[in-house]
Amino acid sequence: MILISFKRAFGASLLLLSLPASALHIMIDPGHGGIDRGAVHGSAKESDLVLKVAQKVQNLLSKDSSFKVSMTRTKDQNLSLPARVKMAESVKADLFVSLHANAASDQRARGVEFFFQNNLPPDEESLYLASIENQMLNAKDSEDASEDLSRKGDVAAIIEDLGRQHRMMSSLKFSQTLTQSWATTENRRNPATIKQAPFYVISKTSMPSVLIEIGFLTNPREAKKLLREDYQDDLAQKIYKALVSYKEKMDNPAIKTLN
Ligand SMILES: [Zn+2]
Repeated sequence: MILISFKRAFGASLLLLSLPASALHIMIDPGHGGIDRGAVHGSAKESDLVLKVAQKVQNLLSKDSSFKVSMTRTKDQNLSLPARVKMAESVKADLFVSLHANAASDQRARGVEFFFQNNLPPDEESLYLASIENQMLNAKDSEDASEDLSRKGDVAAIIEDLGRQHRMMSSLKFSQTLTQSWATTENRRNPATIKQAPFYVISKTSMPSVLIEIGFLTNPREAKKLLREDYQDDLAQKIYKALVSYKEKMDNPAIKTLN
């Protein structure tokens, strides 16, 4: 990943051009689990719902040799936010995709939202949502994270900064690819939106990371759809299609750079 960052910073690097495209390692993170059910509305539980969709995406990716796939959880279990980040770091995943379902006080709120972490200040609504999703993070975890940061030296900080830029641009690229995957006739009146917010899992991972809110459980019509198997299949297909397209873009950046 750092090699790619240097390539972005210093122009075309011929080094990477001769390498064959390798499998892209995706870490899928179904949000919540165990005692943390996430948003619950009627029979729809966020933790169960996102696990189902995640397993469908995992299934599609495992049949495609262009990808390697890992999951932060494959069953209903407690898993802290730092543990999710650690898992992605330890397997050196190339892309982190966290799945969540949304809730809002306005029952009319609907649609899919993609979040990535940027340097710009996020809007207030996204901040509020991030604070809800980060609730499971305890004070001890936060202390450990800041200690880690202070131990790093200047050179590490510079490399980290280049890495951050690459990470941010790649996260945005994947968010845009997801939006394209959602841009069907049926969604034209309610297009998927890209937002940015400091969700813990997409802020602390060193690889490009996107959090997908797959729909609003507080919207009765949308909740009904989200519980349907065929709709979950469709969501998984859209995410998979976006991953395929993202990989194509990531495999060919050097060609564009050399033009
Ligand atoms: Zn959630």
